[in-house]
Amino acid sequence: MPVVALARLLGQPEVSAFLRGVVERGRYSNAYLFHGPAGVGKGTAALALARAALCDRVPGAARFAPRAAEPSLFGEAPAPAASQAPRDDACGECPACGKSAQLIHPDLKFLFPVSGDEREYEESIGETFENWRADPFHLFEYDRAASIRIKQTQELQRDLAYRPYEASRRVVVIRDCDRMREDQYSTLLKSLEEPAPTTVWVLTTSRVSRVPATIRSRCQRVRFAPIAEGAIRDVLESQAGVPGSDAVLLAALAGGSLGRALALRGEKAGEAKAQRDAALAMLSTALHGDEKTLWSVVSAAAKGAARNREAVRRLVEFQMLWLRDILRAGAGLPEATLVNRDRDNQTLFERARTLEPAEVRRRLFVLEEALRAIEGNVSADLSLMSAMLRVGGSRVGEGAWPPHPTARWDI
Ligand SMILES: [Zn+2]
Repeated sequence: MPVVALARLLGQPEVSAFLRGVVERGRYSNAYLFHGPAGVGKGTAALALARAALCDRVPGAARFAPRAAEPSLFGEAPAPAASQAPRDDACGECPACGKSAQLIHPDLKFLFPVSGDEREYEESIGETFENWRADPFHLFEYDRAASIRIKQTQELQRDLAYRPYEASRRVVVIRDCDRMREDQYSTLLKSLEEPAPTTVWVLTTSRVSRVPATIRSRCQRVRFAPIAEGAIRDVLESQAGVPGSDAVLLAALAGGSLGRALALRGEKAGEAKAQRDAALAMLSTALHGDEKTLWSVVSAAAKGAARNREAVRRLVEFQMLWLRDILRAGAGLPEATLVNRDRDNQTLFERARTLEPAEVRRRLFVLEEALRAIEGNVSADLSLMSAMLRVGGSRVGEGAWPPHPTARWDI
C-alpha cells in the first residue's frame, strides 16, 4: 500500500512543515485535532504523522535503539546508518515502517465510524482495512447514521492499560471524531486529561463545531486548507489514471477537496458529465427566456432535493463553471484553458462574443447566492427557479432588478 510521507502531503505545506518540526524535536503534544474541509488529506496526514512517530530510525521513536551498523566479516559496506534516515519523517524502510504501511503496527490504533448492523461490525471494520490497504485513494464514505462504536472505544481502553508493544509510544488516530456519543466523549476526555506520555492522540474532523468544546480545548489544533485546483488535477492525471479533460473538469468541480474529485472518477465521471449537460441545457433554457419549459425542467431537477442537496448544488456549480469559461473565452484565453473543453463549445464562444463580461459576472453572482440559499434551508426548487429567472432576465444590469427582499419570494 503506497503511503504518503509527511514531506509530501498534497497542498498542505504549512501542516507538513509543522508536523515535521514536531517529529524532529520529538516533542509531541498529548493530542492533535486535525480540522478542515472533507477530502483535503487530514487522514493521510494522521497516518503519516503516526508512521514518523513509530519509525525505528527517527530518534526517540524506537523503544530500543537500533544497533549501530557494522561492516560485515567480508568487508562489505555497512547498511545505511540511522543518521542517514530523515530525522523529521518516517524512513519507509525499517520494520516499524513496514508494519505501519500495512496498518498492522501493534502500537498504531485506528478508530473510524462504522455503518450498519452491530452484528456485522467486525466484518465492516475488517473490510475497511482491507480496502484501505488495497487502494491508495481509498475513500472513507459512510451513511449519515455511521458512528464510532462503543465496542471500538472499549477495546481501545483495554489497550491503553498496557505499555506500547514495540515503539516507545503509541499513536491513536480517531477519524471523524465528531461521530461519537456523549459517554464516549467523557471516556475520551478522561484519557486526554490524564496524559500518558506514551500515547499521542490524533483526532480528525471536517465538522469541528460538532466536537465538544471540552475535547477541542485539550487538543492542539492543526488547520487544513482546501487544495489548489492544479494540484488536484495533477494527482488525478498522474496517479489516479483519470484522462486529461476529465481531470480538468473533476478538479474544477472538487472545490479544493481531492476526496470529492476522487469520488467522481471512473464510471462516475460519465454520470457527472451527463449531469453537467443537463445543467447546461437548463441554463440555455433560462437564457432563452422560455419560462414554461424552465419551470418543468427546474422542478424535475429539484425533485428529491430535500434528501439530495448535493445534486442540486452540483448542478448550479456546473452552470457557474460554464459561465467562468465564457469569461475565459471572452478574454481571449485559448480553448485548452476551458474547464468544459471536452464539449463542442460553439455556443460558448458565441455567448462570449455577445455577452458583456459584467453581465456574465452578474449571473455568476446570482448563482452564488442560489448556492447559499440551497445550502440553507430554503426550498431548493424555488431557489433554483428564482435564480434561473434572474439569470435569464434580459435586464441583468445593476439597478435594473425588480425588488426582491429574499430569493425565496421574488418569483
Ligand atoms: Zn522507519
